[in-house]
Amino acid sequence: MLRQYELVERVKAYDPDADEDLLNRAYVFSMKAHGSQLRASGDPYFSHPIEVAGILTDLKLDDETIATGILHDTIEDTVATQEQIDRLFGKNVGRLVDGVTKLSKIEAQTDSERQAENLRKFLLAMSNDIRVLLVKLADRLHNMRTLHHIKSDAKRLRIARETMDIYAPLAERIGMYSFMDELQELAFRELEPEGHATITARLAKLREGGGDLVARIASGMKLVLAQKGIDAEVTGREKRPYSIWRKMQGRQMSFEALPDVMAFRIIVDDEAECYRALGVIHGRWPTVIGRFKDFISTPKRNGYKSIHTTVLHGENSRIEVQIRTRRMHEEAENGLAAHWAYKQGDEGSGAREAYPWLEDLLDVLHDAASPEELLENARLAMFQDQVFVFTPKGALHQLPKDSTPVDFAYAVHSDLGDSCVGAKVNGRVVPLRTRLTNGDQVEILRSKVKAPDPAWAGFVASAKARAAVRRHVRQKTREESLAMGSKLLESLGLRLKVNLDDNMVAPALARLKLPDRTALMLAMASNALTDAQVSEALVPGSTAGQKPARKRGKPGPAAISIHGLTAGVAFELGACHPIPGDRIVGIRHAGKPIVIHTIDCTSLAEEDGEWLEVSWGDETEGAAAQLAIVVHNQPGALAAMAAVLATHNANIVNFRLKHRDREFHTDIIDIEVEDLKHLTRIIAALRTLQAVVSVERVRG
Ligand code: MN
Repeated sequence: MLRQYELVERVKAYDPDADEDLLNRAYVFSMKAHGSQLRASGDPYFSHPIEVAGILTDLKLDDETIATGILHDTIEDTVATQEQIDRLFGKNVGRLVDGVTKLSKIEAQTDSERQAENLRKFLLAMSNDIRVLLVKLADRLHNMRTLHHIKSDAKRLRIARETMDIYAPLAERIGMYSFMDELQELAFRELEPEGHATITARLAKLREGGGDLVARIASGMKLVLAQKGIDAEVTGREKRPYSIWRKMQGRQMSFEALPDVMAFRIIVDDEAECYRALGVIHGRWPTVIGRFKDFISTPKRNGYKSIHTTVLHGENSRIEVQIRTRRMHEEAENGLAAHWAYKQGDEGSGAREAYPWLEDLLDVLHDAASPEELLENARLAMFQDQVFVFTPKGALHQLPKDSTPVDFAYAVHSDLGDSCVGAKVNGRVVPLRTRLTNGDQVEILRSKVKAPDPAWAGFVASAKARAAVRRHVRQKTREESLAMGSKLLESLGLRLKVNLDDNMVAPALARLKLPDRTALMLAMASNALTDAQVSEALVPGSTAGQKPARKRGKPGPAAISIHGLTAGVAFELGACHPIPGDRIVGIRHAGKPIVIHTIDCTSLAEEDGEWLEVSWGDETEGAAAQLAIVVHNQPGALAAMAAVLATHNANIVNFRLKHRDREFHTDIIDIEVEDLKHLTRIIAALRTLQAVVSVERVRG
């Protein structure tokens, strides 16, 4: 526990003018008031408000806020009165302590009308003085850090649920990401112990393989920046288990497919330097399309500023990179608190301008017709990515946004999901793909057979429903593949005029390095083995004299003109496959054709040739782009992709299949496209296919 003088020294260190006497009096008052009360941990109760005050000093908050932290539980839990606090510590501290006390009471109440009343008062108070909320968040953070001392499972779960639903979103709303992260991690561990354990174990395993990979990548990045004259602080971290979990749920990913578990932060001096650093990073590592976000030119609504991008670092390992200035960093970590620290003394008037969402909450306050509506609106405003629906008996379920009756059924019970055939929403029968909205009452119509429809995978929103449907699809696919493989093998036997008994098949299996007949049939069904290969294995020499399948050739160069080059100068397109619409540069080496690269081509970092400013000409007919597509191994996947390419008039020039594992394979496809817009449309269309996991452009 922090001692009295330590606490005062911590405040003095960042605010020499702090009222030392105020802090000392608050410390002594709180210690006496809490007396011999004990926490669940067995520590004196008094340790709690002091730790809360300590957390607030980390945010460099003013003396009144620190005093409020020390006193925050005195009215609720001791014989101290509001009048005493007002008299002894002044009206400012009195008002702040009152605000925190009111909020604590909301937690303890169940009557919704009273809750809404209090919430209204609290929000009004908060909009004038955000410090009330900062103290409450610090209070909750310390309670969560010590949550494991509470013996009752039900109580721990309730507190964790409330933290996840109310306090972490509040911290996010005011931009206090470090608070939000820690609150979410602590609540996640309590709410999803298995998910937490799985992810933690998996992260530990990744770490085993990589040594101190994070530190190595960070220092590599710092070096690359330094070579371009940018002095930056680079830090790296493994992503937190909860943020990995969220991402897995949001994108319906399995852990194996989970791409970026590492994130790096580059901190530079000023805004211009941010963009220079971005250029260097994009020049050195390939960008992952669709992951670049510039929150400096367009800050988030809560004031957050940073540049976000994701790059491919090494083979198939994606890393997230955030670039920001020191000031942006402090505001991002501590949000409104940092804003407060910068503006100390100015009664928080800047908060409403800097944090426009406060205005939203105030609008809700003024427009709500009844306390229930107010409570509903204020809560729902925090959960825009969630939808709340009811069972016929009135039990509440929280689902991801865009959930359907199928998601609901699986959320209630996996048996209910598996046997779902229809649904009533608010008493009316609706299609199963209907998106649920807040407050819907959902009743599931069941059949006796359990037969989830594979088509559900195309519209469900929750990870649980998707996983269940996929499991069934896999099982069905396997059954169908076996039936098909068995037919293929049988007809091959007829053609070769051999009896396919074990004496015949066993040596072939050995030649093909397959464990059993089932594996052979599956390989034939999935086209992993051609008829010719199997014939050769069954009857060596049986395919002699047959022509090998012809390969597709490379096409001639498309007609392309480039502005910035003298007419007739020879040029060629680089291995990064630039296409019209890409930003490009020309690189000249004496005696060689000029090579055109995309501006973010990886090879440019080591390029020592002459850089020429060039742009696409008007007579450009198109060029070949290369895509890497990760696809589920399932029948019809390739046909569906080919159909999309055909409808978009994209000519396939080359096709390679790289096997990855039993569930997925990666296709490398070269296609001829008109320009970047054309390619973007094609990528978007491919991504909508159910069998497609991801589509990325390959550069170099
Ligand atoms: Mn407390």
